[in-house]
Amino acid sequence: SPIEAAYREKTPGSAALAAEARELFPSGITHDARHLKPYGLYVDKAAGPIKWDVDGNDYVDFFGGHGALLLGHADPRVTAATQEAVAEGTQFAAGQRREIAWAKAVKRLYPAVERVRFTSSGTEATLMGLRLARDFTGKNKVIRFRTHFHGWHDHMTHGVASHFDGKSTPGVLGGVTDAVVLVDPNEPEQLKRVLAEDSDIAAAIIEPIGGSTGYTPLAPGFLAMLREETAKHGVLLIMDEVVSGFRLAPGGATEAFGVTPDLTSWAKILAGGMPGGAIGGRQDILDALDFDAAAAKGRDKIGHPGTFNANPVSAAAGTAALTIIAEGDACARANETGRALREALNRVIADKGVPWAVYGDFSIFHLFMQDGHPVADPFAFDPLSLPTVAMKDRPKELIRLLRLAMLVNGVDLNPACGGLVSSTHGTAEVDRAAEALSASIDMLRR
Ligand code: PLP
Repeated sequence: SPIEAAYREKTPGSAALAAEARELFPSGITHDARHLKPYGLYVDKAAGPIKWDVDGNDYVDFFGGHGALLLGHADPRVTAATQEAVAEGTQFAAGQRREIAWAKAVKRLYPAVERVRFTSSGTEATLMGLRLARDFTGKNKVIRFRTHFHGWHDHMTHGVASHFDGKSTPGVLGGVTDAVVLVDPNEPEQLKRVLAEDSDIAAAIIEPIGGSTGYTPLAPGFLAMLREETAKHGVLLIMDEVVSGFRLAPGGATEAFGVTPDLTSWAKILAGGMPGGAIGGRQDILDALDFDAAAAKGRDKIGHPGTFNANPVSAAAGTAALTIIAEGDACARANETGRALREALNRVIADKGVPWAVYGDFSIFHLFMQDGHPVADPFAFDPLSLPTVAMKDRPKELIRLLRLAMLVNGVDLNPACGGLVSSTHGTAEVDRAAEALSASIDMLRR
């Protein structure tokens, strides 16, 4: 394809490194979402909304560090705090001031959170959330919503293999996923039926912005209804705020939607661009991790080691980022740019007359293009008007070519051609994205 040829011509350095990587890693990659044919970009450095590949090309970055970078790349204040921490030692195998400051920064933005436990990733945070819920309720199963993603541990892998069919990924013990009850989002009656008929449900876990970072949004009121129904049945609500936390608003979905869960999982923005995650919420639930509280109940505590939990470097980066978010307008700025970007891209789509739409909320955007579901007016597109299954079969090859064309035109999107906006993106980046989309559609038509 001419688009692929143009991409190869622009990125010879990435091609060479990809060839080396294929001899080292399965598929040459270290995260499934970085898989791109013929090969993905190799990046040398990044600042604010821009990243530079190994050939020196610059790209407006909407992949956003998989969502970790609300403040853009290499924020000078976060970088300074991180450097200071690195120079003082990265691993003490002891308590340290920075983990206390970090937890206080979380609690400042989530006042309902009583206790926090840091992990090294979002996957570990949701895994611990489920374990805490089982221990607290004495029940076994968990409700997970179709299309919702919670990491790659055994209980939640069907979010990785397929966001839609509920099958687990190969290699997982069958019994584990048997304990995960897959429920369709936006189907209150189905949820109520499951809760009424199955008395063995410990928790419901949900992405409060909708499945797959909001690709399949939640209907208004669904989250509040879930809160009410779970409470009624003694089922814990775990809001997985790994993406939405500190992004929608400083206090994440809890603040933006006014729904308070029993437990919240965080990662990404939490650690200011470094590795890190956390689970937090009610003290009586997190007491299962407390030596004395568990002993007082005459039971074992939940074990939780983890060499790099709350390491000082992630703690420093995270505290700096959360403090900036608390004291500034980073979320509001990113949200406003997100709105402007969605509008600008939809204007291009309308002008070019392609049957697609860009949609989303806050600082997040998604591209809808679907065989059998042409969009007549992108400004009137409502993803909630389609059943979840209709969101399923995307035209993969067309999306791949559009993504490559956008790279050729200087814009990096996520593998579904959506993305996330940071507080450092502004009018210039919105304009560049719109111009790139216009040029890319022309390339696709050639
Ligand atoms: N939960 C959600 C909602 C996510 O989007 C992700 C990752 O993208 C995770 C959990 C897993 O987090 P991590 O990649 O840090 O393991």
